[in-house]
Amino acid sequence: MAVNGYGTIGKRVADAVAKQPDLELVGVAKTRPNFEARRAIEKGYPLYMSGEGSRSEFDAAGLPLAGTVREMLSAADVVVDAAPDRVGAENRKLYDAANVRAIFQGGEKADVAEVSFNALGNYAAARGKRRVRVVSCNTTGIARAAAVVLPRWGAERWDVTLIRRAADPAESKKGPLNGIVPTLHIPSHHGPDVRTIFPELSISTVAVVVPTTLMHVHVNRVRLRNPPANATEIVAAFRGTPRFRLFAPWERVEGTPQVMEFARSRGLGLNDVMENVLWEDGVTLDGPDAYFFQAIHQESVVVPESIDAIRAMFDLAPDGPSSIAMTDRALGLSDR
Ligand code: NAD
Repeated sequence: MAVNGYGTIGKRVADAVAKQPDLELVGVAKTRPNFEARRAIEKGYPLYMSGEGSRSEFDAAGLPLAGTVREMLSAADVVVDAAPDRVGAENRKLYDAANVRAIFQGGEKADVAEVSFNALGNYAAARGKRRVRVVSCNTTGIARAAAVVLPRWGAERWDVTLIRRAADPAESKKGPLNGIVPTLHIPSHHGPDVRTIFPELSISTVAVVVPTTLMHVHVNRVRLRNPPANATEIVAAFRGTPRFRLFAPWERVEGTPQVMEFARSRGLGLNDVMENVLWEDGVTLDGPDAYFFQAIHQESVVVPESIDAIRAMFDLAPDGPSSIAMTDRALGLSDR
């Protein structure tokens, strides 16, 4: 497989593929030389030139190119597109011409692919498909939670307030740096996006952007159809599901700073947290209404989903849980 677009998501997907026992990384493509291109070479990933890049720039930087993106595509069965928002839709022409299967990211509109994907939510829907879109970080987080809640207790209605990070840590030109910016369009695009995975779900989302780069936080209120006897059952369901990490009160994780400190000390990926993070104490049941907070590490949460999307497309695993287990074992996420 190949990665086209080697930024925040692309470099993590490449590392994750390189760790899987059943997948082979053919190469990564970048438009321009920079420190990330150098790291790709240092890791032994064949580096290809994509987009409007210029070979002389790579030569001047002393970075050896393995070829153009077209050459990379001709050597791959599938490409993960991790180019900026909406550029993936442009790149689709390249993939069509190369007759290569493609996985797109959440910055693309849903119609870029045959199906939108979340491994816990709808693994089987991507089986045998040629074009799959892994939904965005926020949609991935909500879809995973819905995959836990819906089959157990059903939901009359799901409301989420998304507190969104302003920028990724490496982005120095985005904001707000000081202020809170509401997304005035209601529902925010996340609710309709979740319905690409769970079409029947009655969900409403609102969002505000705040000056942090670490993680998003979702405040969920779910009116359950058949509520459990107590919140402990809900905690147990999340704890028993892969791609969830719950912190107990005694762990004293007050918020996203401690979550990221945990990630630094765990040292997976680029100090990533690919799981939904929940606070056990924040899971509450009030009559039919369940409340919980979850933190989502935007830079990495979609990475294991891209791996599972490949297995689904090529039928490399008997089912979703098997693929998730393989992915998580290779990434070091199995120890919960
Ligand atoms: P990024 O800007 O960090 O990386 C994109 C890379 O693609 C850059 O290296 C850029 O130079 C390169 N590029 C530009 N034009 C290209 C082209 N024509 N062909 C190939 N590569 C090209 O972006 P990102 O944050 O990694 O986002 C990639 C996709 O993942 C987007 O769809 C985004 O919405 C989605 N996504 C991002 C996040 C996040 O928080 N960063 C989370 C989930 C999903």
